Amino acid sequence: MSSTLPEYELFAIRYATRNAQRRDHFIGGDPHEGLMPMDYYLWLATSKERTFVIDCGFTAEVAAERKRTFLRSPIEGLKLLGVDADEVRDVILTHLHYDHVGNFHKFPQARFHLQEAEIHYATGHYMSYPRLSHSFEAEDICGIVRLNFAQRVVFYNGSSELAPGITLHAVGGHSAGLQFVRVHTARGWVVVASDVTHFYENLESHRPFVTAFHVGQMFEGFDALMAHAPTPHHIVPGHDPLVMKRYPAPSRELEGIAVRLDVMPNIAN
Ligand SMILES: [Zn+2]
Repeated sequence: MSSTLPEYELFAIRYATRNAQRRDHFIGGDPHEGLMPMDYYLWLATSKERTFVIDCGFTAEVAAERKRTFLRSPIEGLKLLGVDADEVRDVILTHLHYDHVGNFHKFPQARFHLQEAEIHYATGHYMSYPRLSHSFEAEDICGIVRLNFAQRVVFYNGSSELAPGITLHAVGGHSAGLQFVRVHTARGWVVVASDVTHFYENLESHRPFVTAFHVGQMFEGFDALMAHAPTPHHIVPGHDPLVMKRYPAPSRELEGIAVRLDVMPNIAN
């Protein structure tokens, strides 16, 4: 059956980074001292027929406010891969944290695919707790509400096939309406985990990332990643610099900017 599915080309685009310590990335901290930087990505799935952008990163202004190192605009990153944001029809939002939604206004023709639980969470009483609201920008959330009034948000209540070869999987945990995306490629189904696991190590050591809404659902999210991936090497974490090392750049010019996820990773790296 899978032979009838389209095979998408799939890319991770790195647009920002920050320095951090190992203890910053695991609930309960980490016994080892040491640097563990975090990268920021968006993802792109393209076939001859369709283009899906998965998340859209933050802006230079928000990078400055939050003291992140901004490498390039996500919109420019897409352009380097031949995609004009003005023409994109479909943006999948894995969740509404500032680093995944901030450039929504730069896709004038797109519909945005989002779990309904996420907009409830981001507009409800939990946002009165700074520890939870800290990961959101109020202006982004207002913008998504406005897009909904303009019939440009498609809501999902649970898992769904968005298109042949593109499936959405609701998990919650890190954010109440978090979803991950499965993309059918030449190497089979690749799981774009987004923040279901920030780093390979969160999943591999079963220690969730510190930003948490529901820790139990974070563990269930790890299980869901494993259940939906043909092998662990088909799971792509949301913020791990190792992604740039394990996968090849699409061209020499794009080294350090983008990698192909539709080929097997070099796990020796
Ligand atoms: Zn997040």
